[in-house]
Amino acid sequence: MSIALNLDHATAPRPARQTRKPLVGLDRAALAQTLVEGGIAEREARMRASQLWNWMYVNGVTDFERMTNIGKGVRQQLADNFMLDRPEIVTEQVSSDGTRKWLFRFRDPANPNMPPVEVETVYIPETDRGTLCVSSQVGCTLTCSFCHTGTQTLVRNLTAGEILGQVLMARERLGDFPGGSRPTDGLVPSGETRAITNIVMMGMGEPLYNYDNVKQALLIASDEAGISLSKRRITLSTSGVVPKIGPTGSEIGVMLAISLHAVRDDLRDILVPINKKWPLKELLQACRHYPGLSNARRITFEYVMLRDINDSDADARELVRLLAGIPAKINLIPFNPWPGSNYECSTSSRIEKFADIVNRAGYASPVRTPRGRDIFAACGQLKSETERLSKKDREALAG
Ligand code: SAH
Ligand code: SF4
Repeated sequence: MSIALNLDHATAPRPARQTRKPLVGLDRAALAQTLVEGGIAEREARMRASQLWNWMYVNGVTDFERMTNIGKGVRQQLADNFMLDRPEIVTEQVSSDGTRKWLFRFRDPANPNMPPVEVETVYIPETDRGTLCVSSQVGCTLTCSFCHTGTQTLVRNLTAGEILGQVLMARERLGDFPGGSRPTDGLVPSGETRAITNIVMMGMGEPLYNYDNVKQALLIASDEAGISLSKRRITLSTSGVVPKIGPTGSEIGVMLAISLHAVRDDLRDILVPINKKWPLKELLQACRHYPGLSNARRITFEYVMLRDINDSDADARELVRLLAGIPAKINLIPFNPWPGSNYECSTSSRIEKFADIVNRAGYASPVRTPRGRDIFAACGQLKSETERLSKKDREALAG
């Protein structure tokens, strides 16, 4: 018999925050198992897991007390042993175009002595849809020469719960949970549409270098009894981790985007150095075999427009030639500058000419409008405040 059973729950000391286990991000089986480890009766575990699933992902509840279909005693037991914490919001900025950027802070419950980490998450609203750009890592091990995140060394992978935590927190702030209200500053899609209709794994980090956590988070985000986002509305962008491309299609089943950026290996080796490991030929071969690929489910090829580097007519023609036979969309991204970057964005007339060649080959509206540049929320501009501060601190110390 456990002594805890004799304690009055109202006065029983709650275990320290760190010893309570996070439940967000566990798959159903792990959730049920974790509940049992926390003292929930084995015969109830599956039922409790689906009740919790609904509260966490459909209703967005973070307080066990609000789980009214769970008896008071069990609610207390859950609160004593588990947590449904979301990231802390360090900052929330809204761009003049309605783009919203959060700096989220996470503490690692398994390593409470580690300093917290911070990542950026961006919301890009349009009139009929809203896209959440989610981070998978704090920093990145890769060093793409035009990307701000690439200048920050990898601090750590985010857990599945932290990846989902960005989605849950954004849904809450945007009023996507039942009873929530839409923010009044900045755009959100009109009518009954959810604020977040799409997710792109295009924030900080290389998602396929954190494959297991990203997979788990995306399977939960697309679970029909939960957040229930269609897999066709979830896109994972990779710089080209070839061995994980097949599994992404067969095990996760989301849409794929490839950061191509160059059509020759010598240039791609510099822009996207992972190319030295998996060159263009292998990358495109993996794309041709992407599970589920069809004209209705195309791969998006991202191509950042860098002035005088990769933006000639010959590059455009070679791009079209390389992708022949692959059901593809092409996304031309005007380069977004950041302090200290060594590149310039191609001129608009150059982008137009490049786009024209791509268009004539049958790819529709390929240029991506930069969003949220004024708040440093555009592609490739994300970098955690932790790093910026410590750099400032370092400079202050050096000065
Ligand atoms: N690590 C993944 C996903 C995150 S980056 C990847 O590399 O695919 C999302 C997209 O923004 C990628 O295509 C990336 O190459 C692009 N990007 C990075 N820095 C950029 C910048 N400064 N301007 C425009 N696009 C950039
Ligand atoms: Fe990492 Fe992607 Fe940036 Fe390359 S472009 S450094 S893979 S985040």
